[in-house]
Amino acid sequence: MKKEIEVIKKKLPSAKNIAILCHVHPDGDTIGSALALFHYFKSKGKNVNVISPNDYHKFLDWMPESDKISVYSKSKNKNEIEAVIMNADVVFCIDFNASNRIDELEPFYLKSKAFKILIDHHALPKKFSDITISDTHVSSTAELIYDFLIGISGNKKSITKEIGECLYVGILTDTGSFSYSCSYKTHFITSELIKAGVNTNHVNQLVYSHYSEERIRLLGYCLSEKLVVMNELKTAYFSLTRDEQIKYKYRYGDTEGIVNYALSINGINLAAIIVERTGEIKFSFRSKGDFDVSKMAREYYNGGGHNNAAGGFLKVTLNEAVEYFVKIVKKYPKI
Ligand code: 5GP
Ligand code: MN
Repeated sequence: MKKEIEVIKKKLPSAKNIAILCHVHPDGDTIGSALALFHYFKSKGKNVNVISPNDYHKFLDWMPESDKISVYSKSKNKNEIEAVIMNADVVFCIDFNASNRIDELEPFYLKSKAFKILIDHHALPKKFSDITISDTHVSSTAELIYDFLIGISGNKKSITKEIGECLYVGILTDTGSFSYSCSYKTHFITSELIKAGVNTNHVNQLVYSHYSEERIRLLGYCLSEKLVVMNELKTAYFSLTRDEQIKYKYRYGDTEGIVNYALSINGINLAAIIVERTGEIKFSFRSKGDFDVSKMAREYYNGGGHNNAAGGFLKVTLNEAVEYFVKIVKKYPKI
């Protein structure tokens, strides 16, 4: 990262307008990492905007300055958001490896003359920026942002409590609460964030104890009625229709994390949740050990992700999606 940081350091002083882009269906890592950068550049007097293609999960709305995020899909001033990207001096792409992951914002990003910087940890990054900072061995983009901020500021003091909270959320959510993808460095950075003032108990509660009653009842329904366990295939999955979501007053983000319950069964190495959305089916995959779900997501589900956590979409019915999933699983005797 050192070489890239030297180049970026030369660009930043003259950059007045900075746009920071999150991926579609933004998660804790893209939002936390983007907000951490937002806080840093704001403290440097820059005109900085975080832009997300669509809404972020309700469980992130306590995060410092999250109300300043421009959400393109629900904005009444789409032109303004497009202009922010087009007129930016520097654009950061955060936590994605292909420009189509910003959905409807992609054409404006591609047209923008800004200096473009990608910071990401997904495998096989495409070349769509001037600078690519990519490391697939780290747990989260937030880990990279930690190094990046210290690199450009030359100073650990640049990691304030607010920045620390944002980065901690990225690490916490991308590691399933420190249960996978963690290294010595993940825990080291976390300890530095605690030193910077992050109260991890408090943040854990804000992230994981802020569910609506309906979300908890939806979880109960999934566990008691919808879990399918295929022991012989070491696979377990849930599927959820639109009507079931409506019954439990589904809000965006409510199915997040449910898939992990299927994976937590002894002997199960692959878990999925298959959710009917308007016009398409969303798949979320999780695995234990060596089974690479991102490869499966790329090959069969128009998706991607990481070795142990990935997702994708198909334009089929829910029944077809479930049948397809079972058929694909059978192609992998070594799950
Ligand atoms: P989740 O299952 O929580 O939606 O996503 C898990 C991981 O897979 C995340 O790292 C996310 O970025 C990635 N992912 C989810 N859906 C897609 C998709 O449709 N395309 C790609 N490329 N990655 C995805
Ligand atoms: Mn991530």
